[in-house]
Amino acid sequence: MTNKKGNIGVTTENIFPIIKKFLYSDHEIFLRELVSNAVDASQKLKTLAISGDFKGTADNLKVQIILDKDKKTLTIRDNGIGMTGEEVEKYINQIAFSSAGDFLDKYKDVDNAIIGHFGLGFYSSFMVSKKVEIITKSYIEDAKAIKWECKGDPEYKTSEVEKEERGTDIILYIDKDSEEFLEKNRIQELLNKYCKFLPVEIVFGKKTTWKDGKDVETDEDNIINNPNPAWKQKPADLKEEDYNSFYRELYPTSFEPPLFNIHLNVDYPFNLTGILYFPKITSNLEMNRNKIQLYSNQVFITDSVEDIVPEFLTLLHGVLDSPDIPLNVSRSYLQSDSNVKKISSHISKKVADRLFEIFKDNREDFEKKWDDLKLFIAYGMISDEKFYERAEKFSLFKNTDNKYFTFEEYKTSIEAEQKDKNNSLIYLYATNKEDQYSYIKAAKSKGYDVLLLDGQLDMHFVNTLESKMQDSRFIRVDSDTVDNLIQKDDKIESVLSEKAQEGVKWAFQGIIPEDKSYWVSNDAMRPEDMPVIIARDEFMRRMKDMSEFSGGTGMYGGLPDNYKVIINTNHPIIVDLSEKIEKKTITKRVQLDEKLEAINKEKSELEEKLKKFEKDEDKPAEDKLKLEELDTNLTKVEEEKIDIYKDFGKKQKVVSQLFDLALLSNNLLKGESLSDFVTRSVEMLKK
Ligand code: ADP
Repeated sequence: MTNKKGNIGVTTENIFPIIKKFLYSDHEIFLRELVSNAVDASQKLKTLAISGDFKGTADNLKVQIILDKDKKTLTIRDNGIGMTGEEVEKYINQIAFSSAGDFLDKYKDVDNAIIGHFGLGFYSSFMVSKKVEIITKSYIEDAKAIKWECKGDPEYKTSEVEKEERGTDIILYIDKDSEEFLEKNRIQELLNKYCKFLPVEIVFGKKTTWKDGKDVETDEDNIINNPNPAWKQKPADLKEEDYNSFYRELYPTSFEPPLFNIHLNVDYPFNLTGILYFPKITSNLEMNRNKIQLYSNQVFITDSVEDIVPEFLTLLHGVLDSPDIPLNVSRSYLQSDSNVKKISSHISKKVADRLFEIFKDNREDFEKKWDDLKLFIAYGMISDEKFYERAEKFSLFKNTDNKYFTFEEYKTSIEAEQKDKNNSLIYLYATNKEDQYSYIKAAKSKGYDVLLLDGQLDMHFVNTLESKMQDSRFIRVDSDTVDNLIQKDDKIESVLSEKAQEGVKWAFQGIIPEDKSYWVSNDAMRPEDMPVIIARDEFMRRMKDMSEFSGGTGMYGGLPDNYKVIINTNHPIIVDLSEKIEKKTITKRVQLDEKLEAINKEKSELEEKLKKFEKDEDKPAEDKLKLEELDTNLTKVEEEKIDIYKDFGKKQKVVSQLFDLALLSNNLLKGESLSDFVTRSVEMLKK
């Protein structure tokens, strides 16, 4: 071959500026592209050696990354198949450039932003170089070595040169703007990111040791990769410990070992290998996201896999490797790619299968790990219909006695006791065993079971469960009195008359802060239940919790907490109190009742008189005014009557004491109120 000059086969004169512009955000990938070309060239040689087409030895294959800070060059050297002059012409001058041309044609009109990374392969080197040289010698016997050079314009030069060894050197003359790529640490970082598991040894300088207070080079090659990572090995050859040590290799800063792993190995209908790990996730979902690394034939592509796996699976850790995932296109393309969709649902299925297997094979171990797994599984069940159906078999409920049940087992165990009068099955739950202790106790003493749903996603999970389970509702134990949690037909009679019940209610109303957070009601419970109970309405609480979870901006987020103050009108103390109220207030009430009677009498006489006027406008104005006045008076006297009860309530220490006790058992008595309670209690004990 004679020396040659030519124009690269693209019509676009300014291809290089465009390459730079398009790839701007991701300049660093040039190294990934060049190193994987070098690895490909090495593996091709190996294949030729196996098939007998290459007679020499294909051992000792390696890729070297050589940094020369003085010359401002970065060289990627391999001892793979190399290229002949024709091949350079074909692969570098024509094919590569025409595919670059195609690419530019295709994306000319597309918004820059959607192009993530795409592969211009070899030509991505021009993103960081002012000049690139290829010095290559083919494995073919007697092949001549070729030098190709190009300064980033459509003109290139080739010439024959001397080169001893087979293989290819790609020499990048690093551009002024890109001098970061002349820093050892930067290259080390990139090799670590993209090349850590490439199948051929990648050498970057020599290993160093710490000697006489500084790093000195040794004779040993600094191999930066593990050419045979665990996911490429056979599951049968790997022990638990191998999986765990590979986990540490992937995440050197993780202290917690993973709970389980799944080794994926699919040939059909797509190619996928990988190992997924279940990390311990008890809090902070975000911290655990985006740790899955995506590879294509052991070349790192990305660690944001949210378009490839269902969202909940982004909580898993590990590695996925598939040559079938199109890596060199935009995200929007990925999302609609049918291979990606298949891979995604396959992984979701595998994950469910694996969990089911562990559950079946070793339920005890599964239960032990449940608390750490639960968040992940709940997330999956909430967000993925298919996963819900699969997980129904192994998802567990944990009750407040730390016992675990499958959904089916739990349903069977509560069916007899926890159906309400409409035949709905009521699942009672607590979110905090300490805070809701008295309610849990009350529910249990009635023969009910109480679940513990204290996870981050449990509020959402409860909604999902309710929508999936027929005739079932979830009610938090503190949302009503124990008898009302599960409404049955057997209503308890109140020993107090309706009027007496009203009196008691008003007495309590007298001491309750008027900030609308509390509303008082009566309920005839069993005498042995608590005299006063504070409950939080299930619906309102759930809405508020959910809107707080999602940032607190929803329409329920701003609402104050709402509490029901429920008075047990059958409790002996309340019955006592009521008798006392009736007795102590009778004189005043009788006076007011007389007043009421007088007003009512006057009112009905007036109404009688006005009856004879058919039309409203014929009625005498002064009479109408009088009627209004009487109505105002009636309301006023009614209010006075209520005030009698309220005043009585304020004076009776027992009323405040009962209310405070109810607050106390909800952990709601704080600050001044708590201190008042203590003082009052001491005073009451003195008597
Ligand atoms: P791709 O790798 O996607 O085919 P590239 O532009 O990176 O595209 O490379 C074009 C072709 O050049 C390759 O397919 C290969 O035949 C050849 N090539 C590139 N780098 C090397 C190398 N280091 N050794 C041998 N051949 C190479």
